[in-house]
Amino acid sequence: MREARTTCPYCGVGCGVVACVEDERIVDVQGDPEHPANFGRLCVKGSALHETLGHHGRLTRPRVDGVEVDWETALATVAERLTAVQAAHGSQALAAYLSGQLLTEDYYVANKLFKGFLGTPHLDTNSRLCMASAVAAHKRAFGADAVPCSYEDLEEAELVVLVGSNLAWNHPVLYQRLKVAKQRNPLLRVVVIDPRVTDTCEIADLYLGLKPGSDARLFTGLLAWMAKRNKLDRVYLEQHVQGFDEALAAAREQDAGVEAIAADCDLDAERLETFFYWFASHLHVVTLFSQGVNQSSSGTDKGNAIINCHLAGGKIGLPGAGPFSITGQPNAMGGREVGGLANQLAAHMDYDTPGARDRVTRFWATERRVPCLPDGPGHKAVALFEAIERGEVQALWIMATNPAVSLPRADRVRAALEKCPLVIVSECMADADLLAYADIVLPASSWSEKDGTVTNSERRISRQRGILPPPGEARHDWWIVCEVAKRLGFSEAFDYAHPCEIFDEHARLSGFENGENPGEGRRLFDISGLVGLDRAAYDALAPIQWPVNAGAPHGTARLFTDGRFATPDGRARMQPVRPRPPAQVLDAARPLRLNTGRIRDQWHTMTRTGRAPRLMNHRAEPFIEIAPEDASELGVEEHALARLHGAGGSYIGRVRVSRGQRRGEVFVPMHWSRHFSGAARMGELLEAYLDPVSGQPESKHGAVSLEPLPLG
Ligand code: SF4
Repeated sequence: MREARTTCPYCGVGCGVVACVEDERIVDVQGDPEHPANFGRLCVKGSALHETLGHHGRLTRPRVDGVEVDWETALATVAERLTAVQAAHGSQALAAYLSGQLLTEDYYVANKLFKGFLGTPHLDTNSRLCMASAVAAHKRAFGADAVPCSYEDLEEAELVVLVGSNLAWNHPVLYQRLKVAKQRNPLLRVVVIDPRVTDTCEIADLYLGLKPGSDARLFTGLLAWMAKRNKLDRVYLEQHVQGFDEALAAAREQDAGVEAIAADCDLDAERLETFFYWFASHLHVVTLFSQGVNQSSSGTDKGNAIINCHLAGGKIGLPGAGPFSITGQPNAMGGREVGGLANQLAAHMDYDTPGARDRVTRFWATERRVPCLPDGPGHKAVALFEAIERGEVQALWIMATNPAVSLPRADRVRAALEKCPLVIVSECMADADLLAYADIVLPASSWSEKDGTVTNSERRISRQRGILPPPGEARHDWWIVCEVAKRLGFSEAFDYAHPCEIFDEHARLSGFENGENPGEGRRLFDISGLVGLDRAAYDALAPIQWPVNAGAPHGTARLFTDGRFATPDGRARMQPVRPRPPAQVLDAARPLRLNTGRIRDQWHTMTRTGRAPRLMNHRAEPFIEIAPEDASELGVEEHALARLHGAGGSYIGRVRVSRGQRRGEVFVPMHWSRHFSGAARMGELLEAYLDPVSGQPESKHGAVSLEPLPLG
């Protein structure tokens, strides 16, 4: 028996795991007591990790056009076909769609290959569906996409506000930490703001079941209320913030009376004012927000409406204070760090970051090859598949994600994949339904085999360690990308023997060069303090929060403690926010508001968690949650089957009648795919309405009708 320390891959909390290995099998997992994300805790998904593993059902050989081939043939064919598409249609015809499941090292080399050496900007990620709006809100407010807080701030706060977050199910270890903190400190209050009554409400001192989509109205209302009641931190605003007058003027454009705000949000005015009073009268407030805020056609504005209130009250940069975006995926943050979003270039820099393009070009140049970086941003996720539909993108490499289930208008995504002349899929599981669209299938290694780093929601970089060898001929994603790059003629730039060399390059690119400061503001993503780790040091790397540099060799728990932000003048920017309703309008044909989300015991499209019987016990089949009044009006009962009709298809699920569901709204889980259910793909129900700033789809506000089905 041996023990190995690694990181859980099933959510953005990023818990440390101690895996017990016997006879080359992981026989048990425990929470790592030394990992600062979880201090030994695990949730049910994390504690079942070893039950979701195994070689059964794994992809073990590459395939080209449906025929198993050796790696040399597969890699050469990928290179040949990418070259052919590029020669015929130009670099802009090439694209990649990545995933927050990839490790930072995988992401880094994929970004470097596509943007740096193939010269296409069209590399985006499924993290676009998860936290792109929070990224955009951070950039607008702070000058950089930087999460100010640490998990310990939840424990040090006087008030924790959870907005659009079912923490109990989606980030369970954070929920456990908050629950314990509340038991230890009876003065700590928790407010839950969510249209659904979820398990998270168990610890709520105040629950606000607002009308879906009215979050921005609530927080602009809060800002106006704080101004009216003299609850602003005028000194902080004067010294550290710009844009207050414009933000307040926008907030005051709508009736700022509590009654009017409550009516617009469909809330009880007294309860709403209680929340306003609590927020305004405490300094140590953490507002934790997640997909309920981000997955909206005005998600960026909602994020900024929240941040505005923190800036206006000086509730940031202090222990137990700050707006705190929590990511869904284990390495959504790592993808952001390397430039894995289509609007980013590399090393957390955007195309319009002054000097960034030159810096990256010089950094990636080899003796024989100068990178050919694109001039500007590429297609974001939804637009990428629309470009395939139009025939503009002719070759797509998908790694570790299934857009045919998760993207809105999944029906159109599938049609686009069918039409795309070259689809390359890197995947672990042999029965992933995306493989039906792949011309070339590349068997990838999985958790417990992959070696590299991930960054969790509090900017903490942790090692994910390769504990077992990959089955058959499965290979690591970074290796696959680099081997293709070599066959494309870029050997010098992709000559890595180990992921620690990639990490070292990533760390060097993040740092300053001779005092150079590409952002003209304070550069926050800086891990130059981790440059030069050899294999042993990389392997032993303890979890650490960025920035890590000469000024902060042990990492940085909390940002903006000095009131200086990453803008050129160091001042934060409050944003004028004018609340907008969801873009998806309800009508007589589709009168029900559709909400979508995760369930406690499953992960994404269930390719791994769907294999563990004890995880399937929680919710064994797709379901439709509906309010009792709606159920009786529509003639459906608990356990009956019903079909939802949406924008691009339908979804069959078992009815669950719930008093936690608002009237006129239904909730469906996001997980089921064709493999697990032939008739329940959430993505088909949603129209592709996007946030204009972040490009994030409006996955929380669909429109559906419900048809009772005769057979139960
Ligand atoms: Fe894994 Fe998230 Fe559970 Fe932690 S909270 S054990 S990271 S699924």
